[in-house]
Amino acid sequence: MTVSKHILLLPGDGIGPEVVAETVKIIEWFSENGPVKFTTSTSLLGGAAYDAVGTPFPEETVTNAKKSDAVLLGAVGGPKWESLPIAKRPEKGLLGIRKELALFANLRPAICFDALADASSLKHNIIAGLDIMIVRELTGGIYFGQPRGVETLPDGTRRGFNTEVYTSPEVERIGRVAFELAAKRGGRVCSVDKANVLECTEMWREEMIKLHQKEYPQLELSHMYVDNAAMQLVRNPKQFDVMVTTNMFGDILSDIASMLTGSLGMLPSASLGIAGTPGLYEPVHGSAPDIAGKGAANPIATILSFAMMLRYSFDLKPEADLLENAVKNVLAQGLRTGDIMQDGMKKVGTKEMGEAILKTLASSKRAAA
Ligand code: NAD
Repeated sequence: MTVSKHILLLPGDGIGPEVVAETVKIIEWFSENGPVKFTTSTSLLGGAAYDAVGTPFPEETVTNAKKSDAVLLGAVGGPKWESLPIAKRPEKGLLGIRKELALFANLRPAICFDALADASSLKHNIIAGLDIMIVRELTGGIYFGQPRGVETLPDGTRRGFNTEVYTSPEVERIGRVAFELAAKRGGRVCSVDKANVLECTEMWREEMIKLHQKEYPQLELSHMYVDNAAMQLVRNPKQFDVMVTTNMFGDILSDIASMLTGSLGMLPSASLGIAGTPGLYEPVHGSAPDIAGKGAANPIATILSFAMMLRYSFDLKPEADLLENAVKNVLAQGLRTGDIMQDGMKKVGTKEMGEAILKTLASSKRAAA
């Protein structure tokens, strides 16, 4: 019996619909040529939802997301909606869907494709072959901790405060995600904290050590202070396999790591909740209003987000490898969208890039037959 999985598409705003449209063709290809039959449906989110139904986060979208096996999001936002009250802005839709699906683990790979190694701001030998995964805790820590606020003191000065807070189950569940990933990769986890200054992250470190000893003694666990980790990411990023860290440290470190490899148009991400709930897959970039509607957007970040979906939501490793290799081959053939354009390469638009990846998939299937 053929296994069937349902993917909810949330194209959103700006270049979102353009990059999702190219990815849908890839999804259809895998549906016809792989072990799993994929069905898709589309729901509204962000500015597009506000325009159609007056809210950036319609109830129907939540219901459809919860019924699906995985969600693929394009991007939300744009100048058209910037003057709306905060509750009506497109970003409310994005935060809303992450919250409703209880996505506590954000996975951001930083992979350097050989063909793009010279586009990095770092030297070729430091960056070539880079393949690291940053796991960021997404629903706790200082971004959500109470108490928080700004108060005026009796002497008229002001005091602003936020609270870094984690419980041991929160540390354990994100730690488990990191160890499980490492088990399928290089077997090494580096936990990043500031245990020398912050009691909360001292507890984080102790819980990571306990979890490691209890459940993953066969894997390697190391620890690094966040300031050193930021430096090491730029000095020698290839020393890492999986890095796991708190919400705020992960926010900063994942941006550093992703920029090691070049354009925003290349960077996928996944956000996962507890087992059995749908994961959310999306490019790291936004809606790029400056190039929206011009057919110039790079669809690779969204296509690689679908490769992550194949790997992490559907356990289809060979299919994920096939898709990632197709992207590598197309880059090696010299095709480039504007954001990754280099001298001597052939500039293509969104559709041509999508079609070239499809063609490469088809020819690798023929070669394997
Ligand atoms: P952005 O990521 O949209 O664009 C930054 C720059 O990168 C632009 O020059 C853009 O043209 C380029 N770029 C981005 N993606 C590209 C792609 N796939 N191909 C080629 N070039 C690409 O960030 P921004 O300009 O700061 O934000 C624009 C809007 O997107 C804002 O409304 C912002 O709130 C929203 N945003 C949404 C998300 C999301 O949906 N997850 C993330 C970030 C920003």
